Amino acid sequence: MIVTHDSREAREWAERVRAAGLSVGLVPTMGALHAGHHALIERARAECDRVAVTVYVNPTQFSSTEDLETYPRTTAEDEAACRERGVDLVLLGESTGDAGIYADGFQTWIKVEELSRPCCGRFRPGHFRGVATVVAILFGIFRPHRAYFGEKDYQQARVIDRLARDLRTGVEVRTVPSVRDADGLALSSRNVRLDADARRVALAIPRALQSAVRAVESGEDRAARIQALVTEELEAAEGLDVQYVEALDAETLREPGDVLLADLPGGLLVAVAAIAGGVRLIDNVVLFAPGRERESSAPTTGES
Ligand code: AMP
Repeated sequence: MIVTHDSREAREWAERVRAAGLSVGLVPTMGALHAGHHALIERARAECDRVAVTVYVNPTQFSSTEDLETYPRTTAEDEAACRERGVDLVLLGESTGDAGIYADGFQTWIKVEELSRPCCGRFRPGHFRGVATVVAILFGIFRPHRAYFGEKDYQQARVIDRLARDLRTGVEVRTVPSVRDADGLALSSRNVRLDADARRVALAIPRALQSAVRAVESGEDRAARIQALVTEELEAAEGLDVQYVEALDAETLREPGDVLLADLPGGLLVAVAAIAGGVRLIDNVVLFAPGRERESSAPTTGES
């Protein structure tokens, strides 16, 4: 496995792979790798001839008041996890310099307009601009055939799928289902900062999303009522500071109005952000009318 800090070396590696007629799979991460990241790597491994993982805590997607400084960094463990899973190249990104991710004098931004607006877009101004820009840069460095993202960050995957199409990158954006701990909490690098109490509080999130799943299974079919149910359950959770509960058309991320699940072929996205013990957590579920599951599952392809 090649481990490099130099984006030029990564570019040359990817060029050689493509020139040999082999496919390149890219898994962009911010490190502190856990089983959620491993699932992306394993999917890439299964579908691509060569796999590159990037570990880069991208400063442009954090606002000044966020946790850039305290974001967990576990580079040695990340390298070992990649090696164990047969990754071919790990790029440990640097922010500046000739070898860096951002060119000196950098001033080009990618902004995916509509999909960046709801949910986290309302609470993290500039966040998706930072995400879209760094992913566009990584796509430029690696020119991968496929790139892998988690459904845990559903809106992010939609934003990236859109930019891959809009910029005619030819990159196929693949999404991988959320990996959860046994207690239901979606894995996140930030979970290490939850103490036992905060973790107990945080479990209200997967519980509320499960209530929505069960409600649909027992016949609930109105988007508005599903949103109300999840909101009510989360607001009742002591110690949890709810930022948003949104129920959106999972394809467009538009408010669906008072529609039936059956009217949403791409499903109803129920997305949540809440703070437990000072740690901001997000989670979501995509609900389908019974019998219509994943008929046209949301973010999957690049060029079409
Ligand atoms: P991050 O390092 O948090 O920026 O995440 C890198 C990639 O891993 C993103 O595409 C995330 O959506 C994905 N990811 C993070 N947590 C999970 C999880 N619990 N299950 C599946 N994918 C995840």
